[in-house]
Amino acid sequence: MRQLLLLIFVFFASQWFFKKLRRAQAGLHTGPQTGPQTGPQAGQRTAPSSGPRASSNAPQLPDPLVRCAECGVHTPRGESVVAAGHRFCSIDHAQRHAARPAGEDAR
Ligand SMILES: [Zn+2]
Repeated sequence: MRQLLLLIFVFFASQWFFKKLRRAQAGLHTGPQTGPQTGPQAGQRTAPSSGPRASSNAPQLPDPLVRCAECGVHTPRGESVVAAGHRFCSIDHAQRHAARPAGEDAR
């Protein structure tokens, strides 16, 4: 019977050890900012490499949607193209908007 108790003790000890090790690895990955607001929606997309925050691939912050100035399509901010103070869904629309003379779509 003492062997069984020893076995259970070893089992729990190994569980605790692995949990601690995994937590240490997770702490290394997420960094110091482990806030309580981790949204349940973690959309995983392949963001372009030219991002302002390319230090860690943390999918906690959902991208706000921005409206394309050319076609009006709402695009995630990480994928939008900023040109001349406007946001566009793609580079094509940014170029088309820039090529068009200003004031054409006047109300
Ligand atoms: Zn567009």
